Amino acid sequence: MLNKELWVQVLTRIEPTIMRAHFVTWFQNTIATEIKDEVGARVLVIAVPTEFAKDWIVRKYGIKVLQAVQEVDSSITNIEFVVDSKLADKSDVSGVDVSKITSEPEKKARKVRGKNEIDLGNGVRSKMLNSRYTLDTFVVGKENRLPHAAAQAVANMPGGIYNPMYIYGGVGLGKTHILQSIGNAILKDDESKVVRYVTAERFVSEVVDAIKNREMPKFKSHYRDVDVLLIDDIQFFAKKDSSQQEFFHTFNELYDANKQIVLTSDRPPSELDDLDKRLTSRFCMGMVTELLPPEFETRIAILQNKCMEANVIVDPEVLEFIAANVTTNVRELEGVLRQVILEAELENRVPTIQSAADVFKKLYRAKEIIGYDIERLKMDRSKITSKEVMEAVALYYRVPLTDLLGEARKKEILLPRQVCMYIIRHELDESFEKIGEDFGGKMHTTVINACNKVLKALKKDSRIVRDINAIKKEIGL
Ligand code: ADP
Ligand code: MG
Repeated sequence: MLNKELWVQVLTRIEPTIMRAHFVTWFQNTIATEIKDEVGARVLVIAVPTEFAKDWIVRKYGIKVLQAVQEVDSSITNIEFVVDSKLADKSDVSGVDVSKITSEPEKKARKVRGKNEIDLGNGVRSKMLNSRYTLDTFVVGKENRLPHAAAQAVANMPGGIYNPMYIYGGVGLGKTHILQSIGNAILKDDESKVVRYVTAERFVSEVVDAIKNREMPKFKSHYRDVDVLLIDDIQFFAKKDSSQQEFFHTFNELYDANKQIVLTSDRPPSELDDLDKRLTSRFCMGMVTELLPPEFETRIAILQNKCMEANVIVDPEVLEFIAANVTTNVRELEGVLRQVILEAELENRVPTIQSAADVFKKLYRAKEIIGYDIERLKMDRSKITSKEVMEAVALYYRVPLTDLLGEARKKEILLPRQVCMYIIRHELDESFEKIGEDFGGKMHTTVINACNKVLKALKKDSRIVRDINAIKKEIGL
């Protein structure tokens, strides 16, 4: 690295730590001139324009400079300042022009980023938007293609023709997800944008507080000095007259300034009976779009996505079972899946239709389970014998039955044997001892080990999942 380059890096590190005016005064036209290798030391020589500057820097910033130097080049052990009066000459350009060294834009960005945070009390701040909610993680099906595309359009051109954007739909269908995605996408494009997300409920309580504490001007600027206002669940404004008024003014001001407003609600604007008509008619000026419950295919895709996120493999039949039974709410869909995975993990087994049905029964006592007749499933299972499983496994992996039941520990035989033990144990509920006996008198601990191995593999190897499913299908399990 050239000495000049090194010095610029050092200055860049020092700049944010001292006042800008001091930085410019003392470090203007300074330069690192050479690195001297002495016995047991490596010295960076820094030239400054005046004696006065040298004194000042050494006394006030000596340690800071040394630390910064060592951060950039850890081989340097000492620094030495020399005066070079040539540097004081305005026409001389060998020193570094520190007016070009600035972390100002970064500071500004940091400040703006702060604006997109909320205060959780006790000085703890949190990002206002959940970074999990993006347009990419929103699974698009036939029924929600339009709201998704509209959200994308708004994110591409905030304050454009889809202003305001009004999204409505039932509980747990992704309104908050889409709403926050728009904010995340806009900020990803341009970090300096001020995006404010608020639920109508919070807005109302902030209005009440602001009136009580006589802080209305502060409140007003908080919501009006923004580029994008995302406001969730506006049905909550019903009958809250003073907040509604306040929101009405905020809305008009932002709208007139071409700032993007996105609103969500559980019903269309025409059904917001307890809201001022002047307000609801304005909601219809841009884009009104409905989120519908996801169809079966979309529900499956959502579940598959969740499994991928959680890094677990769940039998497609189990996913189908969940998707068939949870039909109207994505949050519940995710909840059931999470519970099914969790219980399986706690009990150290993989999720099955039976276990999903148990979870479902626990969560929704009154609901009828559709898609699978669990009792019949149980009866059919009891007719299947260990021998049938062994034959199916031998056939599937193309290994002789005698090898499967024998002692050989070659990989091509070991894996099928373990899979076979696992299926018998988990699907036919046979005891470890009995399985050991059926496999030519093996110890029950061998069987336990085999089952555990398969269980582990099932969590990360989709091939084994496929194998086991295929074998189960073959024997009608
Ligand atoms: P709402 O605000 O409409 O009540 P949310 O936006 O809170 O619903 O969504 C509930 C959960 O479902 C969230 O975890 C969200 O990420 C998820 N979700 C909803 N729809 C989808 C979808 N199409 N793709 C992926 N996740 C979804
Ligand atoms: Mg919501």
